[in-house]
Amino acid sequence: MFIYIVATGNVQKRLLLASAKNIKEVFSFDVRISDVPVYYRDAYDPNRGQFIASKILNRMKVVELPNMLKLVGITDVDIYEDNLNFVFGIGELDGRCALVSTYRLFHKDERVFFERVFKEINHELGHTFGLLHCKTPGCVMNFSNSVFEVDQKSKNFCLKCKSKL
Ligand SMILES: [Zn+2]
Ligand SMILES: [Zn+2]
Repeated sequence: MFIYIVATGNVQKRLLLASAKNIKEVFSFDVRISDVPVYYRDAYDPNRGQFIASKILNRMKVVELPNMLKLVGITDVDIYEDNLNFVFGIGELDGRCALVSTYRLFHKDERVFFERVFKEINHELGHTFGLLHCKTPGCVMNFSNSVFEVDQKSKNFCLKCKSKL
């Protein structure tokens, strides 16, 4: 079984490759990058100038790829959900699909930028594996409301979360 990554929008190849490596290291599954198109333009909310995260996720849910365990979308557009100003990502609890936006994670230092994206990918994938938010300091399942909080946590799971994976 594979965890697939798909770019939804304009995402640099370097980031996709590095994200694949990160997922393989943390989740121990083989990772494939797919170029299957995910239509997401209709998720745009002109009133907010942002995209509705769950609408993009719904488009991802119908994607079928060979031996697909999970599908991780990475997008460069700004996404939001419900009454939140924005979300870094969204993941189906105990499901297959997760979506992460790089929009608010950008940093001019590529290492910092990529690390932030890895954290949010691992977090949203954690939800797809059934994990809820965790308060253990440093655990990647900590809820993050700002990039400051993203920078505070590690990209790894605490022992308690890891044992549930
Ligand atoms: Zn979460
Ligand atoms: Zn934890």
